Amino acid sequence: EVRVRFAPSPTGFLHLGGLRTALYNFLYARHLGGKFLLRIEDTDQTRIIPGASEQLVEDLLWAGIEIDEGPGIYQGKHGPYVQSERREIYSNAVEKLLENGTAYRCFCTERRLELLRKEALRTRQIPRYDNKCRHLKPDEVQQLLDKGQDHCIRFKLEEHEDPLDDLIYGQVQHNVSENEGDPVIMKSDQYPTYHFANVVDDHMMGITHVLRGVEWQISTTKHLLLYKAFGWQPPRFGHLPLLVNADGTKLSKRQGDIGIQNFRQRGYFPLSLVNYVVSAGGGFDTKANAKPELQSMKQLIDTFRLERVNSHPSRLNPELLNDFNRMEIQKNLQEKDKQKELVNQVHYLVKQAYPDHSNLDLAEPHILAILKWSSQRLSVLQDLTSSKLSFLWVKPNSNSQTKNLTSQQTEHLLELLNSVEDYQKDHLNEQLKMFAKSQNMKFPLLMRTLRGALSGLNEGPGVAEMMEILGKTVVIDRLQKSFL
Ligand code: GLU
Repeated sequence: EVRVRFAPSPTGFLHLGGLRTALYNFLYARHLGGKFLLRIEDTDQTRIIPGASEQLVEDLLWAGIEIDEGPGIYQGKHGPYVQSERREIYSNAVEKLLENGTAYRCFCTERRLELLRKEALRTRQIPRYDNKCRHLKPDEVQQLLDKGQDHCIRFKLEEHEDPLDDLIYGQVQHNVSENEGDPVIMKSDQYPTYHFANVVDDHMMGITHVLRGVEWQISTTKHLLLYKAFGWQPPRFGHLPLLVNADGTKLSKRQGDIGIQNFRQRGYFPLSLVNYVVSAGGGFDTKANAKPELQSMKQLIDTFRLERVNSHPSRLNPELLNDFNRMEIQKNLQEKDKQKELVNQVHYLVKQAYPDHSNLDLAEPHILAILKWSSQRLSVLQDLTSSKLSFLWVKPNSNSQTKNLTSQQTEHLLELLNSVEDYQKDHLNEQLKMFAKSQNMKFPLLMRTLRGALSGLNEGPGVAEMMEILGKTVVIDRLQKSFL
């Protein structure tokens, strides 16, 4: 059985990169009928952000990623799924390595390590631990232990000859022991380091495939050596390339705007975001230059193939996110219950946007008509309250165009627009054309005047189209208020 995991550290909130990793793991598991685990890697206690784990779970669920095993209500038989609750497991594991001689106690003080670092900098060498304690004799170790001296546990790094057979990158070779000193696997505070806890847990939790960001690829050699020291069969590894901006520059985790929460607040639907992320990374049988189509989660699961994930950096195209979200709005408009949800959301957004207006027309048919009319031009529902479209809800202030009409012309125009029964754009256009002619007025001037009075803008949708969407009552009301 395929078992994969998403193993975030609760040091921040879920962002696009994390979503991508979680998503590929999830798609892979679901495609093969396997299990998707969530494991919280909180061994660096100093960097934990309170509430981050809970938020991570919520964001994953929002995105449509279901957790089979994980902390809280997802408890499975391989738990606990939070590393700080597994310390006994790591202590026992460390004992095994001490016993078989692949790990050792290191008594070097912070001060000594600091001096080593300084010396390396002075001689322009890469700072690394000199493995001094690897060579301590058993009785020396015992003496230091008897003295109660603080120590950590380090792993004896050996050269790893075989290249890594990466599921995405193919054969890759990283030499560790010539570049690095022996790594700490258990700190003096009895907390394991990432590398150690990660390996122990992947093994104990029966993980078969590790799919994670390429920034972890250089660590994998070290992980493979740890598996070897334990005598365990390692899982298969696949590393996902960097997720970058459209221009190839690196996404910064610090930019709050790549947080999932942020996209959510800006009005993006989960499925749009999911399609956006996978469209950058590949994994599907998409024809080159084909227009991307919004896929349901089920379609994504069915068609996902790990071997199709790209190994070159995944460029995010923000325009595509808007396109996907527009497709999602249009799709939801076709479905009765989803339609209702959209209407409710717009209702809420409009009320929020215009808190001082008591007579907003928020009747369901009106909102629905607006949604249908605007769905071609919306990226997010919030666009409906942008300055370009706010005329849909509230009367503009500007009435600067009124002086183009004499008071008599104004009266005739209002009479005409009152008498028109069918507020349909072609019909209205006809009537207005005839009116301009009869008044000896230039048609474009009449339309400009009406546009100003109805929307307060100099450009936008066609005037008759605007009248159709606003409806007779609102049109007459706004014209009266601006002209009279
Ligand atoms: N805790 C690591 C992270 O935050 C997990 C890396 C891995 O998947 O092995 O990305």
